[in-house]
Amino acid sequence: MQTQLVVIGGGPGGYAAAFLAADEGMEVVLVEAEGRLGGTCLLRGCIPSKALLHVARVVSEAEEMEQDWGVSFGKPDIEIEKLRDRKNKVIDTLSAGLGGLAKKRKVTVVKAFAKFLDPHTLILEGDDESIPVGNKITFEQAIIATGSTPAFPRAFDIGSDRVIDSTGALMLTDIPETMLVIGGGYIGLEMGTVYANLGTKVSVVELQDGLLMGADRDLVRPLARRLKTLFEDRIFLNTKVGSVTKSGENKVEVTFEGPAKFGAEQYDRVLISVGRVPSTRNLGLENLPSIQTDQRGFIIHDESLRTGVENIFVIGDAAGEPMLAHKANHEGRHAVEVILGHATTFDKRAIPAVVFTDPEIAWAGLTAEEAQRDGITHEVVAYPWAASGRAQALGRTEGLTKWIVDPDTERILGCGIVGPGAGELIAEAALAIEMGCVVRDISETVHAHPTLGETMMNAAEVFYGTATEVYKPRKKTANS
Ligand code: NAD
Repeated sequence: MQTQLVVIGGGPGGYAAAFLAADEGMEVVLVEAEGRLGGTCLLRGCIPSKALLHVARVVSEAEEMEQDWGVSFGKPDIEIEKLRDRKNKVIDTLSAGLGGLAKKRKVTVVKAFAKFLDPHTLILEGDDESIPVGNKITFEQAIIATGSTPAFPRAFDIGSDRVIDSTGALMLTDIPETMLVIGGGYIGLEMGTVYANLGTKVSVVELQDGLLMGADRDLVRPLARRLKTLFEDRIFLNTKVGSVTKSGENKVEVTFEGPAKFGAEQYDRVLISVGRVPSTRNLGLENLPSIQTDQRGFIIHDESLRTGVENIFVIGDAAGEPMLAHKANHEGRHAVEVILGHATTFDKRAIPAVVFTDPEIAWAGLTAEEAQRDGITHEVVAYPWAASGRAQALGRTEGLTKWIVDPDTERILGCGIVGPGAGELIAEAALAIEMGCVVRDISETVHAHPTLGETMMNAAEVFYGTATEVYKPRKKTANS
């Protein structure tokens, strides 16, 4: 088999690249080791977790209805098979859609594990009928879009199905009575939220002295408070896991060494969520000595995503942080533009990050902590949701919207939001930062009332001291 472009990996980076290249008239082969398209994001990441988080949210809102509003629905009765089937149906629908789109675009999908033999040849492993005779593809250009897998430190790998990673957690085999989440990052807190709302007693152990250490502390605080209640005070910060061992048939014993938790405890399940590692091993890179990886295994590339070999590009998780589907998608499209010789650049000022917990946390551009650390002159203007009519009506006043602003040019450098729906609201901030908006662009844009989106405008008004519901002594006039 011979092709102009081969894409290795059918996740949101790989299929976006393959589809765009085909739309632009290229002959494209997409090699994917799994039977279907979608990658981690669709098959065992973003999408199934959001389906389950939707259920978790409904459960917690129903509880709040009873506690705060006097409307009760009773205790939830969970049919786990039906829940699992519904989540799988979401995946199946979307994955089948991608398969159909590949066919329509005449992208040849080969189910195989690909390895580089030389800068123009891939060798294919597997026994699927889609694999060409001779098990080889020769190509003019290649894009590596192989993604990442959950990190699973050896000390935790005790050969028990009671110790799971995010893939295992999303399978929803059962609703365990107790679960320990090791790692208080994105995955641990999202999956902990799911299981706690389904009825599991969840505990979280985190090595560092805070949850979600990449995010500003004022955004994490309202989430940490709510999780403290949801996890009934079982968040152990600054705590090391000493050992993880099997205990009888169905339990795992974990020892802790930390100020909040010391000694041994048994759990029905332990979720390992301590980061992800790029899938760049076993790719035959030893046959391409010009392609180098860094210490963490990310493939080194230039600004146009080109590796050390001129006709081979890398995108998404395999290319480096942030390991986010939307970044992979944009990089995939950018690599194709480079291959086509279009004038293009990937110089993103804002790749939004969203943690889909309850409340959600979202940020884009510079965080206040980064600005502080790097000595960048900045001013933070924040609008507490307690002043928002919509947040009061929803009973979710813990939220906060803030802009990080260059006080001299009034240009927006970053944005941070915590509160329900923060993940949707951050889109406005990403656009504002990409377009080089100044604060006045936001404060003078009419936002519908009463919406949570209004808090974006209100926070911008705080900069000028003109927010109606917040009193801040004025230092600049609206027309200055
Ligand atoms: P993470 O980097 O977000 O968090 C891992 C946490 O584990 C860190 O806080 C770290 O201090 C802690 N840790 C590491 N070793 C530990 C140990 N031995 N004991 C206790 N704590 C330990 O990683 P993740 O949650 O596994 O997620 C991986 C990546 O997946 C994220 O960085 C993100 O790029 C992506 N992701 C994104 C989303 C989203 O966009 N909503 C959701 C899930 C995952």
